Amino acid sequence: MNSARVVLRETFGFDAFRGPQQDVIDHVVGGGDALVLMPTGGGKSLCYQIPAIVRQSAGLGTTIVISPLIALMHDQVGALHEAGVSAAFLNSTLTMDEAAQIERQMVRGELTLIYAAPERVTTPRFLAQLDAMVERGKLSLFAIDEVHCVSQWGHDFRPEYRALTVLHERYPSVPRVGLTATADALTREDIVERLQLQGARAFVSSFDRPNIRYTIVEKREATVQLLRFIQGEHDGDAGIVYCQSRKRVEEIAETLCQQGMDALPYHAGLDARVRQDNQNRFLRDEGVVMVATIAFGMGIDKPDVRFVAHLDMPKNIEAYYQETGRAGRDGAAADAWMAYGLQDVVNQRRMIDESPAGDDFKQVMRGKLDALLGLAEATDCRRVRLLHYFGEAYGRPTCQNCDNCLFPAAIWDGTDAARKLLSTIYRVQQTSGITFGAGHIMDILRGKATEKVAQHGHNGISTFGIGAAFSEQQLRGVLRQLIAINAVSVDAQAFNTLKLTEGSRAVLKGEVAVQLRASVSGAVAAGGERSRRGKGGKSGAAGAKARAPVPLDEAAQLRYEALRAWRAEVARSHNLPAYVIFHDATLAQIAQRAPGSLDDLQGISGIGARKLEAYGDEVLRVVGL
Ligand code: ADP
Ligand code: ZN
Repeated sequence: MNSARVVLRETFGFDAFRGPQQDVIDHVVGGGDALVLMPTGGGKSLCYQIPAIVRQSAGLGTTIVISPLIALMHDQVGALHEAGVSAAFLNSTLTMDEAAQIERQMVRGELTLIYAAPERVTTPRFLAQLDAMVERGKLSLFAIDEVHCVSQWGHDFRPEYRALTVLHERYPSVPRVGLTATADALTREDIVERLQLQGARAFVSSFDRPNIRYTIVEKREATVQLLRFIQGEHDGDAGIVYCQSRKRVEEIAETLCQQGMDALPYHAGLDARVRQDNQNRFLRDEGVVMVATIAFGMGIDKPDVRFVAHLDMPKNIEAYYQETGRAGRDGAAADAWMAYGLQDVVNQRRMIDESPAGDDFKQVMRGKLDALLGLAEATDCRRVRLLHYFGEAYGRPTCQNCDNCLFPAAIWDGTDAARKLLSTIYRVQQTSGITFGAGHIMDILRGKATEKVAQHGHNGISTFGIGAAFSEQQLRGVLRQLIAINAVSVDAQAFNTLKLTEGSRAVLKGEVAVQLRASVSGAVAAGGERSRRGKGGKSGAAGAKARAPVPLDEAAQLRYEALRAWRAEVARSHNLPAYVIFHDATLAQIAQRAPGSLDDLQGISGIGARKLEAYGDEVLRVVGL
């Protein structure tokens, strides 16, 4: 029987396990159930792939990988083939004949891993095949990927995951490993209960992603801010831009294209073929910016996504963390950038209020939204807050890799302005018997005698003009914060008018201080002007010098570029993304070492036995040119 470490070295070409990988693998190889919580990029795949290989070589048969990501199975299985592992997927993209052939191999336990979606795995037909495997002792392991999909508290609830309880009931002796990058306590408990994983050992990694820099800016002209951010800091890089609506996705993709970027749209309203094509382009080509709704991204394992931008606020911290986590899986510097404004708060609140869910559910969702608002409004370290949310102590008060740590904002005490705002909302409602929107309330407070103010006689109320010293920008910030802390509610049923709440009183009485970041100048708020990472003269133009993950001397740089060109050809002919052949980091190491023989290639991270055999000679030829 192969030991896990030998497989790590021989098959995957890696020297050492990361984080809890070794413990998870030992536990699962030994037949234990496990729940693995690791951030995106943490290395979850090996946690079931290595046990699958070790158990197969011990004669225990096939591992079934349950994954909702049909569109990615081809590449996942392709990556295993590149490493010399026998694997296949079963999904609707196969012909009947192809599927039947794979099923025959599966039932005989010949393959090491089979990927299938939960709705297929739980069909009577598939279960009958699993029965046959169990009879022959050839059903080795169930790996349930994206296991948070079973929970409605997670952000990707998929009802078909619920049916997976059958696995435990029908095959109690077959070990199960569930994996997810979602880690809040509520979701975790729900996963355990739903899938009856009470006996599973939980492996929780640190969720810190030290290479990701978090920045949250005040939204003004979102598109301009986004352009400045991308052009200023990520010219030519691959990235993802998340927007709330399909319409906005289309508009932003169009705008980015007009600016000369290679941008593509992705949302559920697009034809399935277009979606798949755009996804493939993003994975296979370099420097593509995907503008997408949250329909995009789960399971995307592209390692060199350099930024994730949010033009609209997600609905909670789990979603934010999962989406931003798609940046920088290769461990190199990456940005998570979000523009956030009053409208985001109003929209998210309204979506919860108007959802058909029950009151308990809404209550939980409101709590989760509030936590995200707290993060957005925070003036202290974002990372400390994020990790705290996942129950993890950071250990230091600052991270020096988020906007608040790097560019501490001056704090402005908005308590007085907040009280004046609340009084105005109160007086107006008293006087007129109806509620008004934010613009009108701010006009009164700032003493602007608009037509509407005059028409309602609001220039006569006692707070008229008492906030003249505040800018509209400042008052917007105060209002956003009041809404964030539930001291003001926005009535979606009545034209988004403002109302006092239970929480208003404490602010009015001066018991709650309202702290805001002092309004920053446009340039800094846009996040554009502070170019901070040396970009080594890189430009986004096609054919420009490729930036290696490590500094290379001139000769090595030439080898690196030759290797990349070679890799692109191989990837194209195998119909796989380039990083599945070799990561940039592997190519950079080869370029640095300037190998003269196959022996020189040994020990470079990412070159396993199979890749050495398949590509070794080619690589030597390319670097020797
Ligand atoms: P996750 O599924 O947790 O998001 P992956 O399994 O895709 O992460 O792994 C992320 C990247 O890290 C992959 O490119 C993988 O090859 C690499 N990786 C995983 N484990 C190791 C390891 N022990 N040593 C080196 N690289 C690793
Ligand atoms: Zn910080």
